[in-house]
Amino acid sequence: MEQLRSTDREIYELIKLEEKRQFDKIRLIASENYVSSAVLQATGSVLTNKYSEGYAGKRYYEGQQVIDQVERLAIERAKDLFGAEHVNVQPYSGSPANVAVYFAFLNPGDTILGMALPHGGHLTHGAKVSISGKYFNAHSYSLSRETGLIDYEEIRAKALACRPKIIIAGHSAYPRIIDFERFRAIADECGALLMADMAHFAGLVAGGAHPSPVDSADVVTTTTHKSLRGPRGAMILCKERYAAAIDKAVFPGIQGGPHNNSTAAMAVAFKEAATDEFKHYASQVVENSRILAETLIGHGFTLITGGSDNHLLLVDLTSKDIGGKPAAQTLDRAGIVVNYNAVPFDPRKPTDPSGIRIGTAAVTSRGFQEKEMRQVGEWINAVISEPQNDHLISEIAEDIAVFCRDFPPPGLTLP
Ligand SMILES: *Cc1c(COP(=O)(O)O)cnc(C)c1O
Repeated sequence: MEQLRSTDREIYELIKLEEKRQFDKIRLIASENYVSSAVLQATGSVLTNKYSEGYAGKRYYEGQQVIDQVERLAIERAKDLFGAEHVNVQPYSGSPANVAVYFAFLNPGDTILGMALPHGGHLTHGAKVSISGKYFNAHSYSLSRETGLIDYEEIRAKALACRPKIIIAGHSAYPRIIDFERFRAIADECGALLMADMAHFAGLVAGGAHPSPVDSADVVTTTTHKSLRGPRGAMILCKERYAAAIDKAVFPGIQGGPHNNSTAAMAVAFKEAATDEFKHYASQVVENSRILAETLIGHGFTLITGGSDNHLLLVDLTSKDIGGKPAAQTLDRAGIVVNYNAVPFDPRKPTDPSGIRIGTAAVTSRGFQEKEMRQVGEWINAVISEPQNDHLISEIAEDIAVFCRDFPPPGLTLP
């Protein structure tokens, strides 16, 4: 980054600081990851210079000889990776991808049914503050109060009562796998389209460590930068019969020119995700999550649903007598980065909820395995047991920075 350094010292220094932070800390934000150097290079390439409104072979500007090939390659790889009939790789990110699906199939005021935000649904699944909740008649389903699990009977009853045009299966904080066939049956029974949002677990699907929604759902949306370990971006996978509607909704419906540099980086990530190495990665992510769950439960932590079978854990800290926010802030000072998160039926405010969300996608990319995950669990327990002990917190932060040196993440150089 020599050129950047001489052109803009401030931004250069900030990027270096962030690189150091990503190196020295244990990153357990469930939506984050480390992309490879190859993905970073494609993201930072001259493809950012090109405008390509339209689709391969049907563009509005000339000069698409190369870009058309890049986008076709990204699409073909995505189709192969997920077994999809049609893929649109142009959405700028996960939220616009979801809005594009609504724009393709709904009129303002139409009914949708998604997981409630405080139960692990995404903002774009019908939350009141989001366009999805303002422009549409959004109904939501919750998790079972007893088990913390998806209650398919409740979803069925709600769907039959509110008759949604779209049912959304997917989440940002649910630690278990989803039964997409159950969702399919409910959608069929009430005449709804089934949209699966696999933003969080797409990498596990690609690596064979989570059931795929692609056959069951009419439309599948996903980000590419979470467990899938690609650049920031998103895509929509769908049945051939919806291809035209989806493409039209993305462009010219809600977007202009695609981000070709991201498209290229996605293609690289899909190639990486099709390897045996990535399969191994995906199963290790789940295994690491299971081990961390076991370690925390051993220290008396309460896990929503009692464990995890994907990349994430949702911890209810009520029994530890600390709120999610102070816990997350103290853990960050100790070098462990998580986010505070509501738990199902949380009695506390969304801005200071009862839980934290933990994900294992990023640490698995840097090579953490069983032994390391047990150590992470010990550190989390130590911090949460004595959040006021500043001496202990800074000692752990130092230990973690040293510990992390042995696990250089993809894409980063030793600071
Ligand atoms: C992260 C996420 C999104 C949105 O992705 P952005 O790229 O942040 O807009 C959509 N749906 C779900 C389920 C997510 O977890």
